[in-house]
Formats: sequence, C-alpha cells, structure tokens
Amino acid sequence: MMHLFDNHNHSQFSFDGKRSSVEECANAALSQGLSGMAFTDHCDFFVPAMKASYENLVPEVFDVPAQQEEIDRVQALIDNGGGNLKLLKGIEIGMHEDHHDDIRRTLAENSFDQVIASVHYLDGIDPFYGGYYEDKDWKLAYGHYLETIHTEMTWLRDFDIMGHFDYVVRYAPYPEACIRYRDFSDILDEMFRFIIHEGKALEINTKSYQEHKGRPVTLDTDVLIRYRELGGEIVSLGSDSHDPSRVGYGFSRFAGLLKSLGFRWTAHYEKRKLVQLPL
Ligand SMILES: [Zn+2]
Repeated sequence: MMHLFDNHNHSQFSFDGKRSSVEECANAALSQGLSGMAFTDHCDFFVPAMKASYENLVPEVFDVPAQQEEIDRVQALIDNGGGNLKLLKGIEIGMHEDHHDDIRRTLAENSFDQVIASVHYLDGIDPFYGGYYEDKDWKLAYGHYLETIHTEMTWLRDFDIMGHFDYVVRYAPYPEACIRYRDFSDILDEMFRFIIHEGKALEINTKSYQEHKGRPVTLDTDVLIRYRELGGEIVSLGSDSHDPSRVGYGFSRFAGLLKSLGFRWTAHYEKRKLVQLPL
C-alpha cells in the first residue's frame, strides 16, 4: 500500500483501547506497508449515564502528554530500526453542545498534528447501547445524527477531519444499512460545502463497513461522487482501530474506490497543515 496513512487509531490512551497499544499498532502499520498513522485517542466530555455505569467512565480528556511522549518513543524505535513510518499525534474530539468550553480549552491547551471531530452521543444517548433509535424511523434517526454533526462542526471549526458521518448506521436496528445520498441530499450538501470551504477532510471510516452482528454497512458511492462534484478533494482514510489487527482495514479496497471515482489524493495533517499524497 503506497503512500497511505491510517488517520484514525485508538491506543491504550483511549478508554476503550485496552486491546491496543501505540507500539503494536505501529508494528501492524509497518508490516502492512503504510506510510503513516495517527493516534487519535478519544476525548468525550459528555458521557451518557448508562455508559458511565457500565464502564465506570468519567468524562475527561485522555493523558495527552503521556500519549505524545509514547508516540515519540515509538517513533524513535522505528527510526532507529530503519523503518519508514510517520506517526502523528492526534485526538478524536467528541462534539457535544453542553461542553463547548471544555472542547475549546482542550484544543487550545495542547498541540496536535490532526484533530478529528465526531459525534458519538446525541440527545443524551449512546447509540451503541440503544435507546436512540426506539422512537425514530431510520430516516429520522440518521437525519438527526447528520444535522447534529453539521450544527456542532460549524460551531467548532477548529478541526481537520470530519469523522465517521455514518457512525449512526453501525449499531442501528433497521434494514437500511447505508446513508444514501438521495435520502439525505440537502444536509449532506450543506456538510460538504462547509468542509470544502474550510479545507477540511471527509473521513472514510472503514470500521463502519465491517459487519456488526451480520449486518454490513455500505458506503454509497453517490455520496463520494457528490462530494467531488461540489469540489471536494480532501479525503482521509481511517480504520478506527481499537486493536492492532484492524489497522489499515479495507484500505486497498477504499483507495481503489476513490481512484476509480476520480480522486487523486488522500490527505492527512501534520501540525494541523494539510498534506496530500497521490493515490
Ligand atoms: Zn469515533
């Protein structure tokens, strides 16, 4: 795999990264021939009550200095061993309307290579544990999630990659296992116009397209076609790995898909500056 960066990985510094470590993930990336990878550990200030009771979670930012030191340590090991892999320091910031000050402060007080902005919880609920979908049909459930990303990211602006726009589909109970462009054209257009104007990346989060309980989620190519039509060129690939065996999951397939649709680059950010590498 030439020139590909896996821009979305969770290490031992994420609350749900116990199966993972910076060093093991880096080794996995090296053995797959990736050019780089970013560690984007979770930072969610809002934690739904149910999840807090299941996992003893307290809302907090991960230990950023410790994560960055560990990335430096592993980068030195790679360099000394003659490996060719660039490690990036990232964060996946969970956007939530009740925590705007915490989010701003975290981004101001630390420096990162890249910031993924995403939504994990909405209306006080974690879709993973259910409840979110109960009083909604698929169209309302997915549409409301997209609207929430749009509202929060236009508020935040200080991010590089719009994370997993179809996260809400992963754990949904409906047969509709796809965000289709034709069903959500208005809101997707608004989201794309914003990220294109701001020079941010659309993430293809390949974890979404693994099977969950026998239900494969699909990526509607019309979504990518429309993004390009509107002028979108900046695309980031991320495996969302929480386990070294998932690093780079599906990358050849999705890189091939991007190429076939006319995309010429994949993107990542170094010290918050856009870098594009040819596909
Ligand atoms: Zn996420």
